Amino acid sequence: MDNTEFRQWSRRAADWGADYRDSLRERPVRPLVEPGDIFRSIEASPPEGAEPMDRIFADFEEKIVPGMTHWQHPRFFAYFPANAAPVSVVAEYLVSAMAAQCMLWQTSPAATELETRTVDWTRQALGLPDGFSGVIQDSASSATLAAVLTMRERALEWRGNKQGLAGQAKLRIYSSDQVHTSIDRAIWVSGIGEDNLVRIPVTGRFRAMDTEALEAAIVADQKAGMVPAGIIASVGGTSTGGTDDISGVADIARRHGLYLHVDAAWAGSAMICPEYRHFWAGVEQADSIVFNPHKWLGAQFDCSMQFIRRPEDLVRTLAIKPEFLKTHGRDGIINYSEWSVPLGRRFRALKLWFLLRAYGLESLRNMIRNHVAWSEGLAARLAGEPDFEIVTEPMLSLFSFRHLAAAEVDEDDHNLRLVNAINDDGRIYLTQTRVGGRVAIRFQVGQFETTAADVDTAFAVIVEIARGMS
Ligand code: PLP
Repeated sequence: MDNTEFRQWSRRAADWGADYRDSLRERPVRPLVEPGDIFRSIEASPPEGAEPMDRIFADFEEKIVPGMTHWQHPRFFAYFPANAAPVSVVAEYLVSAMAAQCMLWQTSPAATELETRTVDWTRQALGLPDGFSGVIQDSASSATLAAVLTMRERALEWRGNKQGLAGQAKLRIYSSDQVHTSIDRAIWVSGIGEDNLVRIPVTGRFRAMDTEALEAAIVADQKAGMVPAGIIASVGGTSTGGTDDISGVADIARRHGLYLHVDAAWAGSAMICPEYRHFWAGVEQADSIVFNPHKWLGAQFDCSMQFIRRPEDLVRTLAIKPEFLKTHGRDGIINYSEWSVPLGRRFRALKLWFLLRAYGLESLRNMIRNHVAWSEGLAARLAGEPDFEIVTEPMLSLFSFRHLAAAEVDEDDHNLRLVNAINDDGRIYLTQTRVGGRVAIRFQVGQFETTAADVDTAFAVIVEIARGMS
């Protein structure tokens, strides 16, 4: 592709992107395909000769797009949102065109310095104190892994990377069962082992770790000769929004010298609104906090921000400095690849910079406030219907519910069938979870394009399909 064609096809792609967004409301949110349909439609072997772009593009439209789940659809109420505000997509076009590797300051000084600046803008937007530095990771999973590795190295007095874990004291990490599975993975990958992830029972409406039980578990482990290394707390857990008492947990972490990582991957975006900050009161005492601007804030995936109180601990855990990666003769530079597991890094700060400037914090706050209000409104409407029950009350814009099946029908089975029927219908998209072992249907509002009317449609679809099944 020469530059003339590059220009032509880039324009075509940009037009396609705008047309696509215009057409979203008419599309089913989840595609109507069976497993293997797309795979079978693709040639089994790569072409030996060049194919014309017209044909490649036509195949994209005909074979790929109908098999996509439309995450930018205004009636996407499943999982958590993965918003890509158009302005962040524009920034991504530019990033793709430059295709820079931003692992070191010298491999793209602007990318590094803009990252430092946008992390600090975001810190201010969330109301975090200025003691925090930060880095943009690819995912919350990577941020949590980086935090767990730091916990491990700190607790082993920096011997783990060199000596391995064999022969070391047994490390212990504490969390509830409301945290995301990325925490389990980080414990596996770090070599700490699932048996050493101590699950603390939860209490209360927000399913918070019982802090007395947390402290008792730490003390018991210390007495047994094990080494408590860190605590992972949740603000807005994936299943039903489980949220720990960060202040209480932080007090315990401080008393016992433990590293505290807070996973607010989804809920963190809402903290740009001061009235929601009570959900993470005490967060300023954390050692590490992750939240994903690529979820609710509108920065195109991937963009996961990790705030760190002592970056030197993270760097001591992860930095490797072979000669070929050194920058000589420059003082005071940051090489962000020393703050994360992968070496190569995309230029992620640009889309956040574009986004924050193009919207301004106040319009982002208003959008999030609307989402929370609409979700609360829907929960109240469903609660008012005799054949529905609210399983977990709204935590920000996430709640869960269940349709009450006829007496002779298994209720879990009925609700699983209901989710499938709703998703096959295509007008809205939902997912399920389990609460106390029983199936519950999750509902969250978080898409940039969602309106109050879309949430009304969700109510109508849920009620219509549920009653049609009974
Ligand atoms: N933590 C929470 C609370 C999440 O909801 C998710 C994903 O939805 C993650 C972590 C993992 O995020 P990522 O896909 O960025 O690794």
